[in-house]
Amino acid sequence: MFLKKLSRGYLVGKDPGAPLFYREEGNKKFQEKDYMGATVLYTKGVSHSRPNTDDISLCYANRSAALFRLGQYETCLKDITRAQMHGYPERLQLKMMLRKAECLVTLGKLQEASQIISDLESHFTDRQTVAASQFQILQSTLCRLKRKVQEKDNPTETFPAALTTGFEDMNLREENEQISCASSSVTLCTNPLKGRSLIATKDILPGELLVREEAFVSVLNPGETPPRHDGLESKWDTRVTNGDLYCHRCLKHTVAMVPCDGCSYAKYCSQECVQQAWDLYHSAECSLGGLLLTLGVFCHTALRATLLARCEDVGNVTRKLCGEISNRDICLPKSKNQVQTVSHDLGGESEKNSKTDEPPVSGCDINGKYESNYNAVLHLLPHTRNHSPEHKFLCALSVAALCRQLEAAGLQTLTTNLKSSQPKAAVVPAMCQELHIWGVAMLRHMLQLQCNAQAITTIQQTGSKENIVTDSTQVRLATGLFPVVSLLNHSCSPNTSVSFVSTVATVRASQQIGKGQEILHCYGPHESRMGVAERQQKLRSQYFFDCDCLACQNGKRRAAAGPRWEAFCCHRCGELMQGDDVLNCGSASCTESASRDRLVSRLQDLQQRVGKAQKLLRNGKLTERAIQLLSGCQRDAESFLSAEHSLVGEIEDALAQAYAALGDWHKSAAHLQKSLRVVEVRHGPASVEMGHELFKLAQIFFNGFAIPEALNTIQKAEKVLLVHYGRGNDELQELQKMKSCLLDLPPVPEGPAV
Ligand SMILES: [Zn+2]
Ligand SMILES: [Zn+2]
Ligand SMILES: [Zn+2]
Ligand SMILES: [Zn+2]
Repeated sequence: MFLKKLSRGYLVGKDPGAPLFYREEGNKKFQEKDYMGATVLYTKGVSHSRPNTDDISLCYANRSAALFRLGQYETCLKDITRAQMHGYPERLQLKMMLRKAECLVTLGKLQEASQIISDLESHFTDRQTVAASQFQILQSTLCRLKRKVQEKDNPTETFPAALTTGFEDMNLREENEQISCASSSVTLCTNPLKGRSLIATKDILPGELLVREEAFVSVLNPGETPPRHDGLESKWDTRVTNGDLYCHRCLKHTVAMVPCDGCSYAKYCSQECVQQAWDLYHSAECSLGGLLLTLGVFCHTALRATLLARCEDVGNVTRKLCGEISNRDICLPKSKNQVQTVSHDLGGESEKNSKTDEPPVSGCDINGKYESNYNAVLHLLPHTRNHSPEHKFLCALSVAALCRQLEAAGLQTLTTNLKSSQPKAAVVPAMCQELHIWGVAMLRHMLQLQCNAQAITTIQQTGSKENIVTDSTQVRLATGLFPVVSLLNHSCSPNTSVSFVSTVATVRASQQIGKGQEILHCYGPHESRMGVAERQQKLRSQYFFDCDCLACQNGKRRAAAGPRWEAFCCHRCGELMQGDDVLNCGSASCTESASRDRLVSRLQDLQQRVGKAQKLLRNGKLTERAIQLLSGCQRDAESFLSAEHSLVGEIEDALAQAYAALGDWHKSAAHLQKSLRVVEVRHGPASVEMGHELFKLAQIFFNGFAIPEALNTIQKAEKVLLVHYGRGNDELQELQKMKSCLLDLPPVPEGPAV
């Protein structure tokens, strides 16, 4: 689990030769007009280049050309500046400056554009440095740009106000005095059986914002590496992972990364994130890159949490840590006395204070306030007794490996980059000798993570660019610790919905919650995704408790039937089949029966065929063939699966996608509506899954100019998505734009489009 094979290409340090390789690969992609692919390859080139070399400036300049083709003008401008900063060769400047002018014109920055155009003109007349043929092209480009500037130089429209006010409800209405980052509609309680919990202090409406918390620590998941399709074992890896697309600090999606100067792994969205990450933790992590990748994301998170702890009141934290340690069964290699000396040395309040005035709830400070800080992280339960000895051994081994490496890298990294404003600077040298304390802290975090790690997810669009309707899937982007979100207990049928923007988690009520009811959140095993037995098993093995939520109580009572989205139906009369190894038709007048094994193998065969058709769709070429395949699958499914079976929904969804690709919006909408019915039965009409499906349907109606249907669907989608995401959400803004576009249309449309 911890010993993954290191993937090539993520080398610590820079590798000469790699920049050229990636630049050439990028140029190939550029010629194939795969500008996104080219962008990623140039980024890899940048990652492997040393600062202030031709290599790095050429990679940035080439990437700016790809970004230009992608219409990312702001980012293109940033890359041009970066190329110049690293000393872009004078002889190549012309082309890049023209690109810069073109960007500025498109963005409406006319004054800057005019300045560059006149600079370029004088440059030509001064020196005849360019060949005659090139000179002509440049001249005509300049003329075209000047014309554009003149055309654009009229009063510009004002930016629609609606778009800029999207974030107004992103803040909590009233912050809770007892719990930071939470709304005043909840309170923190403890209960001997369930531990800590959040309870509603008043009636809460669906969509109300309950918690909005920035991760205390988060680490980007390197992500699954897609299989090589070139079949060649080359020295450098050209495959794209999440690590190439999302900022390693703020998790923002970007196609134009700025890598760390010291390693080829860490990449960021901006220079600001490079600097912040360096100050907070990367200065210590930079030389450990390869080891951290091998040890895995939990180990990385544990290390980063302790590195971030340095930014808080170090004395206070160390004292608590020592107190923690002496209370727990984790023992320090040295004597207990020394720990006390340490805590004594660190000064602060007297010992009796912390013993007599125990805070009322664990993780709170002396005043009973619970904050999203390292103290709260430290109090998350490690469940030391529940983990298997093998797991504990592996965790200890990983932490020991890290500590050795830290020691070898020179311990000053742990301490030198602290904010110098820290008043307790005198404490630091003592800490430096106490690496074992931080080792113990790391081990504690490793053990905590199994139950407390929160997956930071995002919706990723997949599918070919030619397809207008893309498929969205939820991907795990990073692993983080959120002390306040961690206060929520689990239910397989929760009353809240969690979403993420950057590293900020937002918890909203997904249904009405009465005063006095507990605020519940799902740790993963949701009743719409797993049967009751599977959920119970998962929660017991990972989180060490037996779930007794309402969904589980109900589920146990009618466990025999199984969920409708997994049910088989009788091929004669269409009734649901029931039973274990042999299934019988549910209708009293029908005697049909079938063995489960046979039905399951038919299902697997069908799944395989659907998968094949979906692959054709993703390629975007053989759409007709995919429709043929899917229609066959649909007929087959009808003969033995319930109408609400999830595979039936998948087939309908794929058909909708295929017809949309062909521009047959009418058929596409009909199929998508069938898929929607399956989603509704499985996830509920107000679920976030339903919101995404309604959004898709609205797009289809919109493209087909089915105005009343589109407006109706937009309204439904808005209602659902608003509850889960609040106003700032991208999809909601898109829906707004579609709506205003439809309402602006002339009253009599020319009839349905193709
Ligand atoms: Zn960033
Ligand atoms: Zn680095
Ligand atoms: Zn449950
Ligand atoms: Zn039957």
